[in-house]
Amino acid sequence: MTSPRARRALDEIPVYRPGKAAASEDHKLSSNENPYDPLPGVMERAAVELGRINRYPDAGTTALYAALSAKLGLSPDHFAASTGSVAVLYALLNAHLEAGDEVVYAWRSFEAYPIAADLTGATTVRVPLRTDATHDLDAMAAAVTDRTRVVLVCTPNNPTGPVVKAADLDRFLATVPERVLVVVDEAYVEFVRDADAADGLAALAAHDNVVVLRTFSKAYGLAGLRVGYAIARPPVAEAIRKATPPFAITDLSQAAAVASLEAEAELAERVEAIVQERHAMVAALRDQGWELPETQANFVWLPLGDDAMDFAAWCDPVSVRPFAGDGVRVSVGSPAVNAVFLDRAAAWRKEH
Ligand code: PMP
Repeated sequence: MTSPRARRALDEIPVYRPGKAAASEDHKLSSNENPYDPLPGVMERAAVELGRINRYPDAGTTALYAALSAKLGLSPDHFAASTGSVAVLYALLNAHLEAGDEVVYAWRSFEAYPIAADLTGATTVRVPLRTDATHDLDAMAAAVTDRTRVVLVCTPNNPTGPVVKAADLDRFLATVPERVLVVVDEAYVEFVRDADAADGLAALAAHDNVVVLRTFSKAYGLAGLRVGYAIARPPVAEAIRKATPPFAITDLSQAAAVASLEAEAELAERVEAIVQERHAMVAALRDQGWELPETQANFVWLPLGDDAMDFAAWCDPVSVRPFAGDGVRVSVGSPAVNAVFLDRAAAWRKEH
């Protein structure tokens, strides 16, 4: 018997691997999650929707687009939401790429980029990060050819942490032809405190070819409900919505996302506390002798090279995210768990 065969391209494409679970959920510093419990008010609003899950959700995601429209001052047709910004990315790439096209992105960056890009059949072009773990936008601009349709810019960059500077993004956007879609992935933007950091929305205001990706998974603490969105000029947003499966956003997710936008002041305090913990973690690690790149996200990057896998095992009971041969990403968790991690990191320095 011959079994059905998937497209040959899939033979080369790995399954996306999420961060490893830890013995206790608190000790999981491998997925850049928000360590705080969900806000009770947000849970209550979502729970109301549980009573009507026999119904299909609002196919137009109207409440969320209206709330984002009010927050960002852009009409609702500028938005395209799906089950996490990773799903928005898949839709966006599907909508814009086909075999023969090229997509340019920095490496190392978000693990889902090569998977999502390869699935489209397009050719991927990786441009190495600079030695300080930042995007090399001049080299990325030089990598753009007549076939390039999309460039992915991740700021702050997952997993290394630095932002793209506004001046660098401006120069890049002035160089790259407007037929190339420039995706500015701002999954961690709420944690940025660098006044010189690029601002995707300002870039979008100045350039038709910019798409900003944002998520409720990190600062808003809704990773489990899967809500992310693109902000783009209406024709681009429409193309992304066309490539998104219908009913991607459930009424439960939509209610939680809208309630989170309404609770923004309370959530911003939590984000600020996480930023303060990040400062403390970076300072403690530097005191221990680690050399880390600048981070503006809710994680730190330890460039451990060939020791990455051993260090990750060493951190037990804390689960961190190793990238073999390259480094280890550690999310900023609760102060207590960060302290456990810092102890393991200090012990590693003593023994190695
Ligand atoms: N972009 C970046 C840079 C990320 O790190 C992540 C999450 N790891 C995402 C997008 C996707 O997040 P989500 O699908 O949960 O919105």
